[in-house]
Amino acid sequence: MKVTVAGAGMAGLVAAARLRQLGHEPRLLEKGSRPGGSMLLSSCVVWRHLEWERFREDCPGGDEQLQRLVWERLDDALAWLESLGAEPVWLDTENPLTTGRRYDPGALVRLLARDVELATPLPADAEPPLVLATGGFPVRLARERGLLLRANPWSAGDGLDFALARGGSTTPGMGEFYGRAMPAPPARIREQDFVPLAQLYGREARVFTDDWREITPPSVAWHENDLAQLIGPRAWYVLERTNERVEAARAAGGTVLRRDDGTLAVHVAAAVTHTIGGLRVDTEARVVGADGLWAAGVDAGGIASGGYASGLAQALVLGLSAAESIAAS
Ligand SMILES: Cc1cc2nc3c(=O)[nH]c(=O)nc-3n(C[C@H](O)[C@H](O)[C@H](O)COP(=O)(O)OP(=O)(O)OC[C@H]3O[C@@H](n4cnc5c(N)ncnc54)[C@H](O)[C@@H]3O)c2cc1C
Repeated sequence: MKVTVAGAGMAGLVAAARLRQLGHEPRLLEKGSRPGGSMLLSSCVVWRHLEWERFREDCPGGDEQLQRLVWERLDDALAWLESLGAEPVWLDTENPLTTGRRYDPGALVRLLARDVELATPLPADAEPPLVLATGGFPVRLARERGLLLRANPWSAGDGLDFALARGGSTTPGMGEFYGRAMPAPPARIREQDFVPLAQLYGREARVFTDDWREITPPSVAWHENDLAQLIGPRAWYVLERTNERVEAARAAGGTVLRRDDGTLAVHVAAAVTHTIGGLRVDTEARVVGADGLWAAGVDAGGIASGGYASGLAQALVLGLSAAESIAAS
């Protein structure tokens, strides 16, 4: 069967590889000038919570059935990836709350990317069966909220719009995102700086709005995604002493001030890595209400709502589920 797959990031590459393995002919369209999407820019830790209850606790607004799918299927999905030749660079996540693998993102893209049609966005008249794997809408959300972008520059909600025009619907949490505090402009942030410039020490800082109203929350989650939602387009992190990430921010041209009381203030901004809300899908990754459409990766919404979970795990498991569902249909 001929199947169109839109997006050659994690979910699209996986869906296409699995479709080929099952004897189908995916046509893999990629809007950008290179394959890999945000996956290529990522730390590439593909993980799940160790304990199911902790997943529910960390992402309380998520769809329980989809969460179960990702949580239960990830270990087999990683084994599938490794059966194709993916070599983990870490056998665990170095986080006691989670389990998974870390890969070299470049090597993973080289392994999976075959026959990708670059600079070819999904056409409006594309016929089903079709897998939407366009990476959600971080570009659009960042623009609408005045936030920074910490993602590939092409994921602007094309899959979402395509499915909504054909009867699809959205999940709750369309304003939620996975993001990081980054040094605010005038800091210069290149794609290769997305990981080292993340200001991931917010739980040790006092937090102030841009006009110096204190908004330090009573507690901060281990992943600090809650802080990224709180700080918005500009805020200050105030610290007793400097650290490597503050110095990296300073070196990139970010604003770091010494205050009268001797503390340091770092000007930060929330940056959107991926969107958490998205298309409503079932446990076979079919877009609810839109026949012939599947959505994988972060085009599908409502899995990590209220918190933070691995976007790459979601992309891997839903990419496989979509391919297998199409093959069985
Ligand atoms: C710096 C950074 C670090 C990260 N670290 C981690 C991590 O360690 N662990 C983790 O789980 N997650 C991490 N992530 C998030 C992770 O990369 C994403 O959640 C994941 O890549 C989502 O997969 P996806 O396939 O849905 O989207 P993507 O991998 O972004 O792929 C989407 C693709 O669709 C393409 N596209 C967009 N519109 C169209 C269109 N109209 N037609 C055709 N193609 C289109 C895009 O160009 C892109 O190539 C990180 C992200 C970043 C940026």
